[in-house]
Amino acid sequence: MNTAIILAAGRGTRMKAEMNKQYLLLKGRPIIAHTIDVFEKSPLIDEIILVINKNDIEVCKKNILEKYKFKKVKKVIIGGKERQRSVYNGILAVNEEAEIILIHDGARPIVSEQIIERCTNGAKEHGAVSAGVPIKETIKIMKADRFVDFTPKRENVWITQTPQAFKTETIKKAHEIAIEENILGTDDAMLIEYMGEKVKMVEGDYENIKITTPEDLMTVEAILSHKRG
Ligand code: C5P
Repeated sequence: MNTAIILAAGRGTRMKAEMNKQYLLLKGRPIIAHTIDVFEKSPLIDEIILVINKNDIEVCKKNILEKYKFKKVKKVIIGGKERQRSVYNGILAVNEEAEIILIHDGARPIVSEQIIERCTNGAKEHGAVSAGVPIKETIKIMKADRFVDFTPKRENVWITQTPQAFKTETIKKAHEIAIEENILGTDDAMLIEYMGEKVKMVEGDYENIKITTPEDLMTVEAILSHKRG
């Protein structure tokens, strides 16, 4: 079986909104409901673990769980201070039969069935994968004094997205090592890299953006309007 851990435990302060950004409405539905719906509808996903902020227990219950009655959401877990801790809390709650764990930012509602499929199949074959897209701009790596250090070849630079998907034992081990050695990564793939194992990049989508600021919410609204006509 395959499990998706969906993260919604951040504070979302860059959104400058009253409530956690995940519960803001997008086309009349909370952002997180859009995200869960894609995994709920995917035949590859058997179980969803939703990780929420302890301040959002009531809003999650009322606006999401009771309203949408997602069948695959088997557990709702309280996240940690850092994203990595939220993921680990989710990992501890995964059904022991899970072969593949997909980890996804709740704030990326335009994830698709196709991306979920590429990640799940990729993880089965390679052990650890991330969705991503090739960069369109030229990237400069800076020194501390803000002079350019070097310019990486553009074809080798990709933007990392989620889902990231892993064999269960691989991601568990990576998180345990990170805790032991006090490593804090900005994504889960970093922990696999730290462990010295390979991460394969699979094709994400330029539309699979993470809603971080109010402008991102407008962009996602425009994409959904265009998609659904
Ligand atoms: O803060 P950022 O937008 O990078 O967070 C990415 C995802 O991780 C969001 O869906 C957010 O809710 C989640 N997160 C979490 N626990 C934290 C921090 C972020 O679940 N402590």
